[in-house]
Order: sequence, then structure tokens, then C-alpha cells
Amino acid sequence: MTRPKRASLRGGNGRRLQDKVALITGAGSGIGRETALLFAREGASVVVAEMNEEAGRKVASEIERAGGAAHFVRADVSKAADARAMVEAAEKAFGNLHVLFNNAGIFPDADGSVIETDEETFDLVIRVNLKGVFLGCKYGLPALLRAGGGSVINTASFVALMGSATSQVAYTASKGGVLAMTREIAVEFARKGIRANALCPGPVETPLLAKLFADPARKQRRLVHIPMGRLARPEEVARAALFLASDESSYVNGAAFTVDGAITAAYVTPE
Ligand code: NAD
Repeated sequence: MTRPKRASLRGGNGRRLQDKVALITGAGSGIGRETALLFAREGASVVVAEMNEEAGRKVASEIERAGGAAHFVRADVSKAADARAMVEAAEKAFGNLHVLFNNAGIFPDADGSVIETDEETFDLVIRVNLKGVFLGCKYGLPALLRAGGGSVINTASFVALMGSATSQVAYTASKGGVLAMTREIAVEFARKGIRANALCPGPVETPLLAKLFADPARKQRRLVHIPMGRLARPEEVARAALFLASDESSYVNGAAFTVDGAITAAYVTPE
């Protein structure tokens, strides 16, 4: 068997996303924000899609101040018209779309045990976390096909893979749906130049968890289950998203890509 010639996976100046256009939802905070800044440093033109206009504009101008290319678009990912418009805005601003990072998600306080969680909370979480990813893919995939291929990263969570006794039933159900949907997308588009992977982070130090972890007892209750004994930093998840976005992950497809400090590998956690 002859080995294929080693092609460089990086752009001319060594950047991993040189000449790529990436759309990131929920890019105004946490993991999305860190990923937007990192993708821009790696040469991508970044579409910052965010419901919180102030936060989104801030990230876009941060990228531009650092010499990168960014475009802000206000979008509520749970609304079809917004999802369609954010993709149109990406193609209008930068010509093409190659990377779609469906990252936006919510984790409301009222989400808890299946017995106590009210229907409105369940519907809201499913609408943003699951339908939002569906709409992003529904309108984003045709753009990736027009560009000749690309990478889809959908944010699930380690709770898509295992259950928690400190329940958050709507969130967990939504993330399980994201993982299942991503697998199916990966299979359907595998021969069309598109890869789709579900990013499954463990607990990350972002505003999403800040309220929950403001109570030291609640924080400790979760930390004991993390073999590494600490939360992830958002940039650690952003680096995984970079790998999945770039050609370095060219054979990684349909994966539940865990970035969880060994939570899902553990039976007993070391003291
Ligand atoms: P975050 O709260 O810091 O950021 C989420 C961003 O999404 C916010 O800027 C918010 O304004 C935006 N957003 C919320 N609803 C939106 C909507 N309908 N349309 C557009 N934007 C919207 O959260 P984060 O921790 O960075 O989480 C990012 C993703 O990672 C989420 O999908 C979350 O479920 C997932 N995740 C987070 C953790 C964690 O521990 N932080 C763990 C696993 C998975």
C-alpha cells in the first residue's frame, strides 16, 4: 500500500483555520466566546451569533481589535427566521460557510427532577438546546454543501452519556437529543464532505454554572465525581472545538467527543 503524501493541514502561515468561515452560536459568553477568539486567532472569519446583543457585539469588536475578521448577528437560535438569517448573514459577510458550531444553550434553575420540573421549563430547554441545534443544522448544512464541505460541531454534554442523581431532566433530555441527531447527520452527510460531531464537555467554569456553584456545598457535591478534581476552563473546551473544526480531525466523524476530565471513564473517583 502506498502511503498518501503528507499534506499540510494548516494554512500557509501555519494557522489551523486559515481562509475558513465559522459561525458560532452563543458566542457572547463562556465556551462560545473563547472559541470565537481562538478561531479568529487561527485565521477564521468568525460570525458571532448571539441573542445577547451587547455581549455578542463586544466579542466581535474584540476580535477586530486584535486584527481578526468578525461579524455580529443577533439571533435567537430557537427561532427559524433567526437561524436562517444568521446563515445568510455569514454568506453575505464572508462569501461561504465552512464551520458551524451550534453552541448556544441554557440551564435554568427551574430544571430539576422529572417530578418537579414544570412543563414550561421543559419546553423552553428543548426549544433552545435541541430545536436550536436542529434549526442551525437545517439552515447551516445547505451552506456547508454550497461551500463544498465543512465541519459541524453540536454541543451536547457528558450528561448525554450518563445520568446524574442531581437531576436536570430537561437539560439532560435535550443533550441526549443533540447527540442522537448529530450521529444521524454525520451518517447522512459523510459522503458529501461534511463531518458532524457532538462535543460533550464536563462541567466548565462559565456563567452557565456560576449560579449553581456559588454554593460551595453544591459545588463540592459535583467536584467529587470529577477524577481530575476540578472544572474545565472554557479555553480547554475551545481547543477541542478547534480540533473538530479543523482538517486535523479529518477522520473524526459522528463522535461523542468528550472533554470531561475522565468523568465518563470513572467507576470510582480517586480521593
Ligand atoms: P454561557 O451561559 O456562558 O453562554 C451561553 C451563551 O448562549 C450566552 O451568551 C447566551 O446569551 C447565549 N444564548 C442563550 N440562549 C440563546 C438563544 N436562544 N439564542 C442565541 N444565543 C443564546 O454557557 P456555556 O457554559 O458557555 O455553554 C455553552 C454550551 O456548552 C451550552 O450548550 C451548554 O449547555 C454546553 N455545556 C456547558 C457546560 C458547562 O458546564 N458550562 C457543560 C457541558 C455543556
